[in-house]
Amino acid sequence: MGGVEITTADVLVIGAGIAGLSLGARLASEANVVVLEAESAPGYHASGRSVAFAHFGLGERIVRTLTAMSIEELAADPPDDRARYARPHPALHIARTDQLEALDALRQVHHDFGCDCELLLGDAVQSLVPALKIGSDHVHGALLDHRALKLDTDAMLQGHFRDLRERGGEVICSARVQAIRRLGGHWQVETSAGPYTSPLLVNAAGAWADEIARMAGAKPIGIDPRRRTVIAFETPSDLATANWPFVKTLGEGFYLLPEGSSQLLASPQDEGKSEPCDAAPEEIDIAKIAHRIEAATELKIARIAHSWAGLRSFAPDELPVVGFAPDAPGFFWFAGQGGYGFQTSSALAEIGEALALHQNCPQRFAERGLSPALFAPDRFVSAI
Ligand SMILES: Cc1cc2nc3c(=O)[nH]c(=O)nc-3n(C[C@H](O)[C@H](O)[C@H](O)COP(=O)(O)OP(=O)(O)OC[C@H]3O[C@@H](n4cnc5c(N)ncnc54)[C@H](O)[C@@H]3O)c2cc1C
Repeated sequence: MGGVEITTADVLVIGAGIAGLSLGARLASEANVVVLEAESAPGYHASGRSVAFAHFGLGERIVRTLTAMSIEELAADPPDDRARYARPHPALHIARTDQLEALDALRQVHHDFGCDCELLLGDAVQSLVPALKIGSDHVHGALLDHRALKLDTDAMLQGHFRDLRERGGEVICSARVQAIRRLGGHWQVETSAGPYTSPLLVNAAGAWADEIARMAGAKPIGIDPRRRTVIAFETPSDLATANWPFVKTLGEGFYLLPEGSSQLLASPQDEGKSEPCDAAPEEIDIAKIAHRIEAATELKIARIAHSWAGLRSFAPDELPVVGFAPDAPGFFWFAGQGGYGFQTSSALAEIGEALALHQNCPQRFAERGLSPALFAPDRFVSAI
């Protein structure tokens, strides 16, 4: 990198999605942080494509605990003039007759997490979502969870961006990381916007996290990017959908939620394998979701207003990866946020901050059964 001026930071974070921005903003209270983003704006990939919802119907105990520990903060009144991060919006988990046992197990999980929730049958379900078909081949019962939240993911990204800047940090967009090497106890990072150096490098590159690890000479952990498709369609003018809950089938099927006053969003909950890329929807997944919605409801999808896809990136055990690489000093993993990167972001960034600064995790995590070892990268990669 001879001849070109190198920018020095205490911490370099690769990736300006929710992961990199939420952790970067916290670290900026204690250190000089620079976030490097390949695209021309933050949140271009997974973080700009989510359906922005928080609920307890996905993941297992650890993900649900992270969710429970995050949503209180997300739902809190915002300080000063900021936009609110989340508003209460119920989730309705619908089940056929053969799924009632699974529905009861889900009710128990919600109960264990202190959710205000209720089991509903036939007519009561239809009164909430009149378009749902009720009957032996369709919905028999449902769990209504009042603790779920509709998130404002733009407000979340902008809020962390603003915190980072106010604490002296920077986000450099159009700075694609192209090469990484370790020199004299520092990481030297070559980007399309020039060279950077720091002793601590945070890998928050989402679907590209393994690629970044390889560049740095660290072993990849097996990040698995899976495509998820969403369609938006207009609803008939005589159907008031704005107050419908987030509707999700148990197991394979679909989810459906209102977007403004006259549109619905829907996804077939697809999980197609993908390389890290600028994901686009595939015709087959669009056809699948239209078919499933028309089979399960009285809705007719005459025209799809728009559709998109994004990558949800999972570690092999589907838990987030937070901690120092055992095989590369000063290389910190913050990846594998799967399909819950927003709803777990507050707790994950708090754990990430403590571990990256070699501090103990706050006691409240241990009290909820969350230890750093659950997230440590050495569960996949051993020290050399
Ligand atoms: C359709 C869909 C619906 C979803 N719905 C929800 C939901 O309702 N609730 C929820 O909590 N979660 C949801 N998720 C999951 C959530 O969006 C993700 O968990 C989260 O956005 C992951 O954030 P991230 O910062 O790790 O990844 P990303 O947002 O992908 O950020 C990674 C960043 O790293 C950058 N990068 C990569 N390589 C380089 C490089 N070489 N140099 C510099 N920068 C680089 C990328 O450009 C990117 O901006 C959904 C996801 C999808 C796709």
